[in-house]
Amino acid sequence: MTLRELAGIGPKRVLAFAALEIETPRDLLEYFPFRYDDLREATPSVVLGARGGEDNAVGIVTAVRERRARNLEIVELDLRDESGPFRAKWIGRNRYVIGRFKSGMRLFVRGRVERSLAGPVISASTYRILGPDETYRGALVPVYHAARDLGSKTIAAAIARNFPRLLAEAPADPIPPSYLAATGYDAMECAYRSIHAPESPERAQRARERFAYGEFLVHSFASLRRRALRALESGAEAMSDAQECIDRLERNLPFPLTGAQRRVIGEIAGDLAGAMPMNRLVQGDVGSGKTLVAAAAMFVAARNNVQSALMAPTELLALQHAQKLGPLLMPFGIAVEPILGSQRASERKEALRRLAGGEAAVAVGTHALLTESTEFLRLGLVVIDEQHRFGVEQRARLRAKGGTPHTLHLTATPIPRTLAQTLLAGLDISSIDELPPGRTPIETYVLRMSRLESAYRFIRERVEKEKRQAYVVCAAIESDEDEGMGPIGAVEEAARAAAGPLAGLRVGLLHGRMSADVKDRTMRRFTAGEIDVLVATTVVEVGVDVPNAVVMLVLDAHRYGLAQLHQLRGRVGRGGAASYCVLVHPDDAPQSARLDFLLESTDGFAIAERDLELRGGGQLGGLLQSGHSGMRYGDPIADRPLFLAAAATAREIFERDPELREPGNTGLRAALLAEQNLRDLQLSS
Ligand code: ADP
Ligand code: MG
Repeated sequence: MTLRELAGIGPKRVLAFAALEIETPRDLLEYFPFRYDDLREATPSVVLGARGGEDNAVGIVTAVRERRARNLEIVELDLRDESGPFRAKWIGRNRYVIGRFKSGMRLFVRGRVERSLAGPVISASTYRILGPDETYRGALVPVYHAARDLGSKTIAAAIARNFPRLLAEAPADPIPPSYLAATGYDAMECAYRSIHAPESPERAQRARERFAYGEFLVHSFASLRRRALRALESGAEAMSDAQECIDRLERNLPFPLTGAQRRVIGEIAGDLAGAMPMNRLVQGDVGSGKTLVAAAAMFVAARNNVQSALMAPTELLALQHAQKLGPLLMPFGIAVEPILGSQRASERKEALRRLAGGEAAVAVGTHALLTESTEFLRLGLVVIDEQHRFGVEQRARLRAKGGTPHTLHLTATPIPRTLAQTLLAGLDISSIDELPPGRTPIETYVLRMSRLESAYRFIRERVEKEKRQAYVVCAAIESDEDEGMGPIGAVEEAARAAAGPLAGLRVGLLHGRMSADVKDRTMRRFTAGEIDVLVATTVVEVGVDVPNAVVMLVLDAHRYGLAQLHQLRGRVGRGGAASYCVLVHPDDAPQSARLDFLLESTDGFAIAERDLELRGGGQLGGLLQSGHSGMRYGDPIADRPLFLAAAATAREIFERDPELREPGNTGLRAALLAEQNLRDLQLSS
């Protein structure tokens, strides 16, 4: 059945629906309202507006005032119910309400309520004329995201009119019947009804939860299956001599590996020894020494005559990686080749030639690595730094450059274990949970904006007395036009500081809209000590390493997640010197108390957990979701308990019936087969 065959939908409307990506009756059925207007009860006029927001009233019209001003219609009614008088008004363009109302009529009105001296006034958004004896019987009205030429009411009407036919197009229920009984959820038909025409907000909520649960079940099962399939895969390079490489690498270092590094490198070496492609996530706090771990893996690869590629989210980080990997690997005759968007054409061409010919064993770059002109002779290992900045597709493209390479993901954003194991079930996880010794802990302060100048004085002292450097991080590139509303911009703050509190110091500016060239030059100057204070946006967030920088000043700190602030803090304290992180928030910032957690904890895992509790994992979202198709009904982080429950169910089902052959599991099987991006699951249809 097509949309066109539904009652009340002609060719024009089909186009309007297409703009909302509603192309089939099933799409329409699955187009859920984003809220409900509660028209069930009329509020007596004496308490009208007491709850704030929109409210409903039923009353008898006692006076009508109408006028027209250009194409504006203005209608004002006096009404009264048993408890007293109230007013309703309409002000709008072409609303066609003039002439509709007469004294003595009974009316239902809904809208935003303001309380004035003359009593409550409703700015009407909805009304209905009632018969003299008609009992008011309102409903919970679904409100849908609308499009041009297609209002929410039209969508609601199309669904209501065709509901039985739409239901006939419903997909099979992914929740097996035996589990449905245990969860107590309604059957699908009932649940769809509770979404589009609910009896109560609670029923609607429960139905929504049910769809989220079904979706989580599908995704969890997919993860389990993918993991199991990977175990059967082969074709990756099985590498030998890992231990010898690790020993040689370590002998060449000025320090011993930490216990955690040694363990994680061992886990990676174990993976590399097999023909099953590695797919491992290494998570470790800033400064935990992930680069070295990656270098060890690359060493093993080079020793086995296969090439490695490291992909970083920004040009700056790619460059730094290349600069760090070079000295680690060059002594063993392993050439590290940066591939950067900013390279001169001739330079780039030469680098590409060495990669294609196999002379260079390691390529380091940004997404420039993905362009077609980058060819490898034998790519066997792909390292992806801060994977959440890359989409699934980009990762797949890089991997496609080398048959079946081993893949290593590095991240400084720790993911709470329970979540990681279920959400990222296709990945193995290693944690570097130990920092190299001798780090002085970073002193952290939370300051009000009115004390900002004292922070600048502190920076000035560190620079003048100790020849140290500092970062000032802003939440925006430029300040908002609307004075005082948005965050302070880096451009303005750099200018202000250079002319005022930091006058006489060398102040630099770095932000994401600068060309790669300028960014690169600025960063080099900061690294070389030619800039004292770098005012920047969060481009310095990940990975940038300047040991002489000892102060991290973050403006508008209340705008960041805790995990992100922790990352920023990790930019300092990289040398032996005492280091400081100063978090500044506006004097009246809401939730600035949240920042205090960073005073208590330096444990990235604890901070990530806390972030998750406080913000529903805003910062983690990218990493966790990047590997998954956009979920439609649920958010695994916001609905964590539900997600974990669904994941447990998926495990039970998978253990008993991995191919989904049992009759009770046909719905789940159908849901998996229907997902475009789950094609790799190899379920026979
Ligand atoms: P990450 O990428 O995890 O933030 P890096 O790999 O950049 O950390 O390492 C941070 C700093 O610590 C670097 O300067 C590195 O040389 C140093 N480092 C790494 N491992 C050790 C170790 N085992 N002992 C002492 N210093 C180390
Ligand atoms: Mg790093």
